[in-house]
Amino acid sequence: MRKAARKQSPFRQLEFFFDEPIISQLPPARELQDRARSLLRALDAGILTDRVRVEWNERMRTTVGRADFRRCLVSLNPALQEFGAAEIDRTLRHELAHLLAHFRFGKRRIRPHGGEWRKACCDLGISGERAGHTLPLIGRSLPRQFIYHCQNCQGHFPRVRRIRRATACLACCREFSGGNYDERFRLRLVKSSSSRNFPRF
Ligand SMILES: [Zn+2]
Ligand SMILES: [Zn+2]
Repeated sequence: MRKAARKQSPFRQLEFFFDEPIISQLPPARELQDRARSLLRALDAGILTDRVRVEWNERMRTTVGRADFRRCLVSLNPALQEFGAAEIDRTLRHELAHLLAHFRFGKRRIRPHGGEWRKACCDLGISGERAGHTLPLIGRSLPRQFIYHCQNCQGHFPRVRRIRRATACLACCREFSGGNYDERFRLRLVKSSSSRNFPRF
């Protein structure tokens, strides 16, 4: 599990500025899952390769990532968006290392961030990853108050603040309009802070 400290993010979210509209992105879970599977495939991780799933979990507050052995599930906190693609990737690998270590040595007791896990991190390309590594994640003090939705890829984009300018889904703009802003992929507000039930994704 990757813990998060409660400080303001020094990073800005990934946004592409055009004359007026903005494109914005939270990579689809499917894309991260594909990445996880190709990483595991290269390491001969057996049935784990086909079973592993990756989800964005809006309910996570104090951790940025979580690994569930029984369900072969990696859950990621959408607040990771604030830290950019590199931190999303690193957190994905950190959690995958928990699943991989468990897959390899699960018959006996291993410590969560012990040697087996460190070896798995090494194999997954994040040697030197530490258990105590913290991200200055925005904590409970700043919940994602607004959730936007792309009707094309069904992606969800949690935001602390209401989006004032026209903003479109980066993934779809890249795929279908050469990286240019396209009204068809404009993000629509689906939930605001008054709603209690955030969608899970
Ligand atoms: Zn961990
Ligand atoms: Zn989209």
